[in-house]
Order: sequence, then structure tokens, then C-alpha cells
Amino acid sequence: MKTVNYFLVISLTVLLSPIFTACSDEYPEDIIIFTNTTIWDGASVSMQENSALVTHQGRVLEVLDMNDPDFPEHGDIVDLNNHYIVPGLINAHGHVGMARGLEAGPEVHSEENVREQLALYARYGVTTVVSLGDEPQEAFTVRDQADFSSNGLARLFMSGPVLNPDSPDEAFEQVENLMQHNPDWTKIRVDDGLGTREKMPPEVYSAVIDASHNHGVPLAAHIVYLEDAKGIIENGGDLLAHSVRDEPVDSELINLMLERDICITPTLTREVSVYIYENRPDFFDDPFFLAEADPDVIDQLQQPDVQERYTGEAADYFREALPLAKENMMRMHNSGIRVALGTDSGPPARFQGYFEHMEMEMMQEAGMTPAEVLQSATRYAAECMQIDDELGTLEEGKWADFVVTEDNPFDDIRNLRTIRGVYIGANPVPGI
Ligand SMILES: [Zn+2]
Repeated sequence: MKTVNYFLVISLTVLLSPIFTACSDEYPEDIIIFTNTTIWDGASVSMQENSALVTHQGRVLEVLDMNDPDFPEHGDIVDLNNHYIVPGLINAHGHVGMARGLEAGPEVHSEENVREQLALYARYGVTTVVSLGDEPQEAFTVRDQADFSSNGLARLFMSGPVLNPDSPDEAFEQVENLMQHNPDWTKIRVDDGLGTREKMPPEVYSAVIDASHNHGVPLAAHIVYLEDAKGIIENGGDLLAHSVRDEPVDSELINLMLERDICITPTLTREVSVYIYENRPDFFDDPFFLAEADPDVIDQLQQPDVQERYTGEAADYFREALPLAKENMMRMHNSGIRVALGTDSGPPARFQGYFEHMEMEMMQEAGMTPAEVLQSATRYAAECMQIDDELGTLEEGKWADFVVTEDNPFDDIRNLRTIRGVYIGANPVPGI
């Protein structure tokens, strides 16, 4: 009997060994493979057709050709039916938890509201949000405790309250207080409200920048004017969080930004939101908007007293500034400055998720190619916000955060609206 058994063991080993060396040795057991897809990994120039994305424990292992001789023979298969994969979109300038519908303030602050907004972003393919200011304390709790991947929530990075000190001493104090919460960025506004209030002077904002940098935290600045954009960068600021809206950007600003590798989030939809509700906007008939919008909010925005709020000096100024904002974005882009997708969505009537798609469409209309817009919304947004060690592309070791679309977004950025699935850490976002 012993001899027979020994013979059997030998035979099985000889028979099975070529199969084992071809697959199981190379791949961990619990891989998930997204098959039959055309993939843009965010790092390559072109898309890879007839490909598969191999993931392990929520992270990317590799992109493989479907006919690769070493294609794994085990693992969970998700057949993507010849759809497209691009990295999850990153909004480099959003806001979470500060508003609910048209209401803002402490009465709407809750962890639940923050979570609902992160889920909403995720359903639109925005798998990461950098929230730049005015979040409630509850947002820090969600950032620190949520399991984003398992709950279909966009990943959250945030700055906490916008700092507004009156003196360099107060700047130091405010930054020290904020650091207890471990912010990912700090945020300031250098803005005179179109001549209606005092603007933060350079000696104060430079103190905020220095205090933030002492803690290794980068600073994003809200600006309107060219002069302030230059001042911020000369004093060490790390991101222009809006377009320059008073004058054409000049070579002095462009060179300052290139020297220090500073990015901009143009937030073109922010300008739109200031005047668009004066009348009923066309997008109130867009099924892609209506799929998620609250009918009560749509109704409120069509009441005459509410429409009235979207008229006046500020509405006129920013409506007229929008073409210049687009031109300035293109001047920077053509000079080699990285433009990162950023919308300023989250305050009342700046619709999270939908506005990111509107912004990308405006970037395309301004002259960027669909591929350039995609790069702004993924890899560049991650690099600009200093989160590219784990996000922004589908390269080995990064989170498997991605959007599945039916139509090719390289043909037209509007094709990103044909969302068929969104995955965060290789987990499907529910409700799509
Ligand atoms: Zn903002």
C-alpha cells in the first residue's frame, strides 16, 4: 500500500506543477480582476484596449492584456463588458458638511450630512474630495474614522475652518489651534469682497503661510486679483484656489508659479453659481442632474425672492469675469502650469458631483482636450494636493479607485457621464 501511495503523490505533483508555477506562484489568492475593459491608468499617454485590472486588498496590482500568457487563472472576476476604466476623479477644491440644500450653518452640521455628501460625490465618480474650508468639526471625525471603501464614500482630505487672523501673532495662534485636528491643508481668503471689506495684508498671510509650513502643512489661498495671486506665491503659498479674475495673467505670475511648481484650481462653476439662478438654468432639465438633485431645492431656486439673490453687483462682476477666468486658465495650462480639477462645490446651490462634470465640460470648451481634462481631474489633482503617493493613477500599489463608463471619455469629456460603475478600493459604490 505504501508504494502505491507514494507513486500517486509523485504523479500528481508532476502533473500539476506546471499549472501551479504558471499562476498561483505569481498572484496572491484573494485577487479581484476587472476584465474585458479599455483602461487609461492615468500615467500612460494612451488607453490600453482589451485589458484587465488586477487588484489585491483594494489596491492595484497591475494592468494586463486579456491575452497575456501569464493571465491569472484564479481570483474573483468582474466582467466589465467592454466598458472603459479611468482613475477616480479628484476634486481638489470642494467643501463638505457646511450646507444642506440651501441652508448653511451649525443647524445642518452633522456626521450624517458629511457622509451623505461624500456618497453623492462618489456616485458621480468623484472618489476623492479635498475640502478647502468651513467644514464642521464632524467632518474631521468622518475623515479620521470612516471606512471609505466599504461605505461608498469619497475619500476626504480637509483644511478645517478658513483662517482669518488680524495680525501675525493671531495668525500663529490660529494655526497652532487648528493643528490639533491635523489638517491636510490650511486655507485663507485674500479678498476685499469687491471693495466692501478689508483685505488680509501680506504681513498677516505670510505669517499664516510660515506657521503652516512649520507644521509641514501646505496652504491654499482664495484670491480674486492678480496682485494677490503674486503676493501669495512670493510669500510661499502652495495653491491658487480660484482663477485670477481681474486681469489677464502675466509672465511674472506664470514664472513665479513655474519656479515653485504651483497649481491652480480654476473653479469656473463657482462663477456660474453666483449668477445662474437669476433665471431657471437649462441644467434643471438635465437627467444627469435630476438623478440626484433634491426636488425641493430645485423648486426653491425658482422662487422669485430666491432668484433675486443671484442678481446685483457680485453676480454681474463674476458673470463678466468668467470668460477671463477661462482665458487665464488656458494661458497657465499652455505655459505648463498644472491645472487641477476644482469646483468649489458644497456651499448652497453648488451641486456636489454634478458641478464637477459641468466644470470638466467648461474646461473642454475653453480649449483643453478631453485627455488633458482627465489628467487635471486625476493625476494632476493628486499631485497638486500632495496625495499622489496613493491616489490619482492606477499604478501598482495605489488605491483601486476608478470609474467605469460606457462611452470613451477620451473622445469627449461628456462621455464621463455614461457612468456604469464607480469603485473605491476595488469596492463598488452602491446606488449607481
Ligand atoms: Zn472654496
